[in-house]
Amino acid sequence: MIKAALKVFIFVAIITIISFIATLFLKTNNELQIVLAELEITLSPSATVVTALFSIILIWLFFKIFNFFIAAYHFLNGDETALSRYFDRNREKRGFQALTDGLVALALGETKTAEVKAARAKKLLKKPEVTNLLSAQAAEQSGDKDKALKFYKELLSQERTKFVGIHGIMKQKLETGDDHTALELAKRAHLIKPKDQNTLNILFKLQLKNNNWAKAQEALKAQYKNGDLPKDVFIRRNAILDLAKSQQNPTKEGEKIAILANKSCPELVPSAILASAIYLKKGNKKLAASILRKAWTKSPQPELAAAFANLEPQESPENRVSRFKPWIKLHKGTPEVKMLEAELALAAGNYPEARKALGDLSESHPTVRALTIMAAIERGTGATEAVVRGWLAKALGAKYGTAWCCKKCNNISRNWAPVCAQCNAFDTLEWKETQLPSTMDESTQLLPLIIGDLGLTESAHKEEKNVS
Ligand SMILES: [Zn+2]
Repeated sequence: MIKAALKVFIFVAIITIISFIATLFLKTNNELQIVLAELEITLSPSATVVTALFSIILIWLFFKIFNFFIAAYHFLNGDETALSRYFDRNREKRGFQALTDGLVALALGETKTAEVKAARAKKLLKKPEVTNLLSAQAAEQSGDKDKALKFYKELLSQERTKFVGIHGIMKQKLETGDDHTALELAKRAHLIKPKDQNTLNILFKLQLKNNNWAKAQEALKAQYKNGDLPKDVFIRRNAILDLAKSQQNPTKEGEKIAILANKSCPELVPSAILASAIYLKKGNKKLAASILRKAWTKSPQPELAAAFANLEPQESPENRVSRFKPWIKLHKGTPEVKMLEAELALAAGNYPEARKALGDLSESHPTVRALTIMAAIERGTGATEAVVRGWLAKALGAKYGTAWCCKKCNNISRNWAPVCAQCNAFDTLEWKETQLPSTMDESTQLLPLIIGDLGLTESAHKEEKNVS
């Protein structure tokens, strides 16, 4: 209290003296004349600047010495820590200044300055968790991985900074593709901070990379428990992992998991197909059909229609048409249903009906499947081989149509998978219209799902030979 009052008093006194001197300044040409009582001083412009700077330093020094004397006064009055506190405070102040300068340099990309400042801050502050981290980041930025690793290892030595050190080393391992060590480090980091979002995310991705669906599921559940994932996303991803687990495990236990996956996420098409096949095997055709229909309601995909057709492999084409009626009604007019109707009519040998069902799809939506159906219709109605081959040639160069496409990298795959084959992203495959051209392999294997081969594959291969 007394110290603060004294400071204010001295500050006011100095300001008064400065203002008094300023009033004595008389400008003559480029020189500065100071008249003080009997004394008359004349200064050149450069000397004026030097004098001004000198005065500022003097004032700053004065405060420094003043603070020191205050500390000394307290010390003499029995406060034994007053002096050490005075020096520590100064040290800390300079340390934090060096740290701040280091962080600014790091942000500006001046790695050399950042490293120097970090070393200075380390000397002044006793905070290795902060200064080592700054040193490590500066070393990382300058590309000196070994130096960064040295600082990360120093961080490992203290309980408080262990986590940061592990994360730094783990990041380096991930960058060099050493997933095995990265996974071990992620597990250690998870033990220290079980709720850390970043660690859980890395743990999840690395377990996926190993196809260890069960362990990935553990990480996913922890993410959800933490509140890192919305409920619907968690349910879907959990079902996908259940499905992946059951695909790996074709036992009774695996079947149970597959059914669970379908129950929690009925719109997941591959899961619906698997669960339906399990019920069919058990003789529960009704449930098998209902599962497929539920999935079809959300997303009409040819594989669902094929699975539904296969529930009754011996039925007549007419019975099949009538069994599919409710399915057609659900998505009437869509390209998928137009092709389905056309394929059903083809199977029944009703070519005019097939042509009517397909409509102008071969023009408006000329995908591989639509054009191959068109070739089949032409063959069925007795068109010449040249006409049939003309449609097939078009089909070979046509767009793929709907397929599983990765939301992240746009990679197209015929089969669904929990992880994208190209970019390794999880749950990114979606069924959608794709603009990519098909390959020969795709055009012959995709078609036709309901009615079987029709002998068109052979013609298509012949056509490919002619084209090439
Ligand atoms: Zn991808």
